[in-house]
Amino acid sequence: MKLPLCFYGNPILRKKGKPITEITDELRNLVQDMVETMDAHNGIGLAAPQVGKLLRLFVLRRYIDGSDGKWTVSDPVVYINPKIIAVSQETWVTEEGCLSIPQIQLLVERPFKIKVESTRLDGSHVVEEIEGINARVILHENDHINGVLFIDRVEDQYLREVQDQLREIKSRFK
Ligand SMILES: [Zn+2]
Repeated sequence: MKLPLCFYGNPILRKKGKPITEITDELRNLVQDMVETMDAHNGIGLAAPQVGKLLRLFVLRRYIDGSDGKWTVSDPVVYINPKIIAVSQETWVTEEGCLSIPQIQLLVERPFKIKVESTRLDGSHVVEEIEGINARVILHENDHINGVLFIDRVEDQYLREVQDQLREIKSRFK
């Protein structure tokens, strides 16, 4: 089932998600709905607060660089109670967007490489080292469960250019 998205201006996007203590059928259903919602909007990642659930949970698909030079995406990957345990000194800048802040893409600086630990839906505990765009997606989604949005990481000069658009999105929240 596709879930309604929360947009910029909705205070839930500024709150911290709560740790998940148990993997229940309810959680499995939520994850399935989140994947459907992400795919329906052609997103590559979606965090629980974006669908109004204050939980430390996000889903994503990984970009896979094909040998033919074309990108594909992986099956959905579920992150429960993720923790970024290390980030590289090396950073890189590229454009990011967010399903909760439609039609705005801005340059964001992020660490190039990260180490992240999390729990999967089957209860397994995973520690992984990820780099590039797939690390960026994790950092973006991990921000969401801490009430942080990518626009918080954008330089003022770029942010000023989209001030009116942001105000417009915000004004739709009643
Ligand atoms: Zn986002």
